[in-house]
Amino acid sequence: MTLIASPPQESWQARAKRMGLFLVAVVVAFPLAIIPPISERREVYLIAAAAFFVVTAAAISFVPWHRLPEFAKFSMVIGFCAAVAMLRQSGGGSLSGYAPLLLLPIIWQALYARTVDLALTIAAVALTMVLPIVLIGGTEYPVAGWRAGTLSTLVYSVTAITVQRLIRRVRSHETMLTSVVALTQRLTDTDDVRDTLCHGTRRIGRADIVVLSEVDATGRLRITASTDTEAARPGGDGPSSWNLVLAGGAPLFVEHTDHDAAPFRSVLHQPIMRGETPFGLVTLGWSEPRRRPPADTRHAVLLLASEAAGTIERKDLLERVTRLSRHDELTGLANRRRWDDHLAMELSRADRTGSPLVVALLDLDHFKWFNDEHGHLAGDRLLKEASAAWSAQLRPTDLLARWGGEEFALALPNTDLEGGAMVLERLRASTPQGQTFSAGLADAAGRDAITVMQSADSALYLAKESGRDRVVVFDRSDHEVSLTAARR
Ligand code: GH3
Ligand code: MG
Ligand code: MG
Repeated sequence: MTLIASPPQESWQARAKRMGLFLVAVVVAFPLAIIPPISERREVYLIAAAAFFVVTAAAISFVPWHRLPEFAKFSMVIGFCAAVAMLRQSGGGSLSGYAPLLLLPIIWQALYARTVDLALTIAAVALTMVLPIVLIGGTEYPVAGWRAGTLSTLVYSVTAITVQRLIRRVRSHETMLTSVVALTQRLTDTDDVRDTLCHGTRRIGRADIVVLSEVDATGRLRITASTDTEAARPGGDGPSSWNLVLAGGAPLFVEHTDHDAAPFRSVLHQPIMRGETPFGLVTLGWSEPRRRPPADTRHAVLLLASEAAGTIERKDLLERVTRLSRHDELTGLANRRRWDDHLAMELSRADRTGSPLVVALLDLDHFKWFNDEHGHLAGDRLLKEASAAWSAQLRPTDLLARWGGEEFALALPNTDLEGGAMVLERLRASTPQGQTFSAGLADAAGRDAITVMQSADSALYLAKESGRDRVVVFDRSDHEVSLTAARR
């Protein structure tokens, strides 16, 4: 028997273990030599056979085959066939009954080797059966042996091809499962579930493009990720087939889309389910028409879709919770928690770099009256509009937060009091609906958060006291500074 495709790092013990069953069959074969017919020089042939077997088995176990060229491994098949030929000879030729042993190298090759090695082995076995008929013939190897030889070769070939196909299918399932498990792991680890899902599915499904679409708040299906941003269209077989899949909750393969504008000829839609309800589709597209993907691909896509459903839901929920914990829901501005963290960070940066930093507190004037006059909902609307209008006046590095109620806090890094007063003037000018606000501006560099906020609050209090609709600026000793911008 031969070991054509043994993994390079396999130890000799592991190789011997793989040979175990094959060895048993061979060892049992020897005592059978006592059953007639027996050739005249039985012992000589038996010793020759044993020698061939032992040398072959030892070579399989100990030779570092991975360092030798592929064809060298074929010598093992020859060694085994020679051993069986000797056994046959010892048992009187065709009638010895030893021929079925020749199935062993064929099965071995079907399990561990390439198709080409298997074909060569079948040829070697066929030769082992028919050559003695041609070369020796007579009563030992009668012409009738052709029939048995041909039929055995045929049956062995069918068995081998079936075994090889089965093994390939199992291995491909195994590879597929490993890739799916690895991708599932990546989905849980990554920040970008949707892109990772699309790229991973394309690789596993050997598709040209993979598109993820999800049902949005209005109930429409929207593309949320794709492996190809240019052609982010799921195959062009149109929304009708999407809806079909969404309604049925079962996968759909379209072999040949007849949509003219379709960039892809074949598509597989796999719904993503939340409980019993589909909330999206993973669509695999192929640019050439193709037959339905094999079962293992379809199973992999199904597994991925169900795994992705849970992961996407968890990530979205986590994102929402994180956002809610850091943002104010009404205005979308940073909330008090985020403000506190941000201010601490800006203060330590200003300390480190020596750059200026100013902080302001803003409070809408007579907002209680506004609410009473126009209603609470109109008040909410004004808060939102003012937040948006002010944000539009700021740099990305500035932070405007909702401090509480109708009060806002503003941090302006790399800005001195003069610059801060100018920014606040811009905000005053942009406040919607003729609304006014009062603000206190304080120098923050070199101070701690509590002192800074107290300083800005005192300045704000002074602004309210002295008539509202104005900005009061405090220096580092909480003395009012008169700035042109603030007085406007
Ligand atoms: P001033 O600041 O000029 O002294 O007067 P004011 O009327 O604004 O007084 P105060 O700051 O005491 O009142 C704040 C009002 O803001 C009270 C409350 O009705 C309103 N307010 C606070 N939060 C909200 C909100 O989320 N939505 C609405 N519509 N109103 C709010
Ligand atoms: Mg207030
Ligand atoms: Mg107010």
